[in-house]
Amino acid sequence: MPNKTRVLILGGGFGGLYAALHLDKTIARDQDIEVTLVSRDNFILFTPMLPEVAAGDLDLTDIISPLRQMLKHTNVLIADVKSIDPAARRVTIGYGLNRAQKILSYDHLLIALGSETSFFNLPGVEESALTMKSLGDAVILRNQALAVLEVASLVEDPVIRRTMLSFVVAGGGFAGVETVGALNDFVREAVRFYPNVTEEDVRIVLVHPNPVILPELGEDLGRYAQRKLARRGVEIRTETRVSGYSDQRVEFKEGEPIAAGTLVWTAGVTPHAVLQTLPFKKERNRIVVDETLEVPGFPGVWAVGDCASVPDRKTGKAQPPTAQHALRQGRQCAKNIVATFRGKRKRPFSFTMLGQLAIIGRRAGVASILGVHVSGLLAWGLWRTIYLMKLPRFEKKLRVALGWTLDLFFPKDLAQHVTLHEVERVQRRLETARRRALSPSPRQVETSSTGPRLLSASNGHNG
Ligand SMILES: Cc1cc2nc3c(=O)[nH]c(=O)nc-3n(C[C@H](O)[C@H](O)[C@H](O)COP(=O)(O)OP(=O)(O)OC[C@H]3O[C@@H](n4cnc5c(N)ncnc54)[C@H](O)[C@@H]3O)c2cc1C
Repeated sequence: MPNKTRVLILGGGFGGLYAALHLDKTIARDQDIEVTLVSRDNFILFTPMLPEVAAGDLDLTDIISPLRQMLKHTNVLIADVKSIDPAARRVTIGYGLNRAQKILSYDHLLIALGSETSFFNLPGVEESALTMKSLGDAVILRNQALAVLEVASLVEDPVIRRTMLSFVVAGGGFAGVETVGALNDFVREAVRFYPNVTEEDVRIVLVHPNPVILPELGEDLGRYAQRKLARRGVEIRTETRVSGYSDQRVEFKEGEPIAAGTLVWTAGVTPHAVLQTLPFKKERNRIVVDETLEVPGFPGVWAVGDCASVPDRKTGKAQPPTAQHALRQGRQCAKNIVATFRGKRKRPFSFTMLGQLAIIGRRAGVASILGVHVSGLLAWGLWRTIYLMKLPRFEKKLRVALGWTLDLFFPKDLAQHVTLHEVERVQRRLETARRRALSPSPRQVETSSTGPRLLSASNGHNG
């Protein structure tokens, strides 16, 4: 319908989804309003529990929730945002294997595209390191740990075996610390099922550029986490920066290199490249918004979450990129969009964090809540309780609670989700499909009055 007012949300993570949920409940069913959400994945990923998937404590589907089942009146489009044209109020998206393009017009645009891993152009790191941001990353890390255990158990040479079983995690923030704790538990528990491999063959190292890990939680909790991880066999190298990775050798700016078959890179993020070409003001590559989450000088364009630089009303500094902030910003932004429709006053976004928590492996955690510092089993219990409550959808809460309960009685599952021969088979199929997409058979080509065009490469216009 041409006269509909179109709200377009880019990104189905914490910021985008919680904005869409509010609009879904308020204005999305109105006849003259159309709400559309574009995201790469057809689910929201609950990132705080990602390391638990890598550690085999949770099943991969436990921590994702399908967008379509959460949004009843919103159009959900699974596609890649390719470009944004604020002057023409249009967004180009690409979808499907051959990246067919479609143009979407909007009256209100909410940008919530999160962030991507940044490798700082360090040689070999982007090409060879694993990351920990997506569901695929957690699956690949768990799979990689199992794959090297399987191969190492067949290798006679102890030096090669030790290199294969050496894992370096770069970055001592939340993602790095939770990942190293989970990986350490997983590999050390798995080793006993591999008779030719011993715990001495395993080396797990956390490297961090500052003197103490987990800087957001304060020095005492950071040092506690370091001691706890070290007691469990993790080598901690502080004041150390990775300078490159090649031939299974992690090089550092400071100190000796480490021969390691796996480097997990969690040491940097940056907002999506698509945003860098936009004419908006940026701060550390994040889109600067005003207190109401609107982009100054671009009425009807809003940004929230990791890709937005949102001013903190108390400190004047940008708010930290966390899920806690993103989901609340998303909700407030949706309220301001509704207020704009109804001619009401937009409200400034304000939120004071109650606390932050991290788990550092089996039954150990650190937490700072309302200024009170807690560590060990109590912090771990708090982490599980709080994040279970925050996990979207009752069904998923139930599955996770059940998974954690079963975990108390059974060892970790060591079955690989993806095996090498399957990867090769999928690669072959993808190559065949790509070749077909590039040279379509006559049946795939439709002839129109303006000449032939690919059926699958329609250049549609929304609205
Ligand atoms: C391992 C890990 C653990 C974490 N733990 C915590 C924690 O305990 N507590 C906490 O508060 N925060 C935590 N965070 C941070 C938190 O995940 C982020 O701050 C939060 O996800 C930001 O929300 P967002 O909506 O801005 O981005 P995201 O949640 O990342 O969502 C971005 C969305 O955009 C989509 N997208 C991206 N690019 C495109 C494109 N080109 N086209 C279409 N769609 C696209 C993505 O698929 C995704 O749906 C953690 C992060 C990680 C990686």
